[in-house]
Amino acid sequence: MKILSINCGSSSLKFSLFDMKDESVIASGVFERIGIEGGAYKIKYNGEKITQEIEMPSHTDAVSVLLEKLIDLEIIKSLDEIDGVGHRIVQGKDEFLESTYITEEVVQKIEDFKDFAPLHNPAHVLGIRAFMKVLPNVPMVAVFDTSFHQTMDKEAYLYPVPYKWYKEYGVRKYGFHGTSHRYIANAVKEILGGDQFKLISCHIGNGGSITAIKDGKCVDTSMGFTPLAGIMMGSRSGDIDPSIIPYVMEKEGKNVGEVIDDLNKSSGLLGLSEFSSDMRDIISKCDEGDEKALIARNKYARRVVDYIAQYYVLLGGADVIAFTAGVGENSIPMRRLICEKLACLGVKIDLDKNNVMGERVKISTDDSKIEVWVIPTDEEVMIARDTLNIIKNR
Ligand code: ADP
Repeated sequence: MKILSINCGSSSLKFSLFDMKDESVIASGVFERIGIEGGAYKIKYNGEKITQEIEMPSHTDAVSVLLEKLIDLEIIKSLDEIDGVGHRIVQGKDEFLESTYITEEVVQKIEDFKDFAPLHNPAHVLGIRAFMKVLPNVPMVAVFDTSFHQTMDKEAYLYPVPYKWYKEYGVRKYGFHGTSHRYIANAVKEILGGDQFKLISCHIGNGGSITAIKDGKCVDTSMGFTPLAGIMMGSRSGDIDPSIIPYVMEKEGKNVGEVIDDLNKSSGLLGLSEFSSDMRDIISKCDEGDEKALIARNKYARRVVDYIAQYYVLLGGADVIAFTAGVGENSIPMRRLICEKLACLGVKIDLDKNNVMGERVKISTDDSKIEVWVIPTDEEVMIARDTLNIIKNR
């Protein structure tokens, strides 16, 4: 069985084609600048990277080029080999508790949720519709970033604001990166050989969120109504005092959208360092003793630790802390800094074992009170697994 896992943005489309026999990736790639001049694609296949510039006025064009290339490059012999397509969807609100077979009604709901994810959901719909046009008979599945967090209770997901905001306008914590946190929970289940554990999953990449997981289920998570909430990120502020917003609007003569844009794109590591949102740049400047880089790095670690500490208390302890995504998988110094700040919880890491990038490894010492793991996430394989399960059981 071959399954395509798709992540469609407003001007880009990422894909991985899986052979579900062994969950191996047959080919993967990205189509960029869809609907914008200067389009191009990159396809990785058989250890080679194929790139080409090509104009793609619409998502349907991108999907057509993708399928054409899969055949031209002899990655598949015919389109009949594609058994299913799974789509990553950012916002499923409280309507989609799990991944779902895509029908017209499902597409409509994803579209209806656009006010809750204006940058993402409309783009996902473009992707789904493009595949519906080009592969009309292939079953498709929607995999939501929000589903895993639907096990949070009201005490976790309600904000202490007028209840009417929740009842009438859907103001609540939804949480994101759910597919990644679910992958990490499954991986820990495999590692420990059971599902009775308390896990703090730290997905720290460009965006970042931390999730408290008990017996495989999400209890609380750091992102909120939108992915702007929670820890400090590459260019996002995470939680701040909301009164800052009208104050800066007045100071800078900006409207609310412009200030929210500043909080999404000019804050976090970039905001404090004033030169980069990338942890690699920040760490290398820290090594030169750059003061702003040091503040940015330390504040980042502190915000992660704030949430780990909060969830340690919420869960009544923790068996495992897991690091994943760009920073969590690769930044040796950031993991070390975070873990040093957790020494009072009995966390101890082995500096040699921590010297890894992108590998599944336990980095804590044998006498650490909490096991600390690096676990590379794989949202694409989760999308492919869900797609296969759903189409097989229909
Ligand atoms: P996204 O949230 O966009 O999916 P990723 O999970 O790919 O992001 O994370 C990207 C971030 O990971 C980069 O901005 C960078 O800060 C960080 N990163 C990647 N590689 C390294 C590395 N070797 N050392 C430190 N940080 C890294």
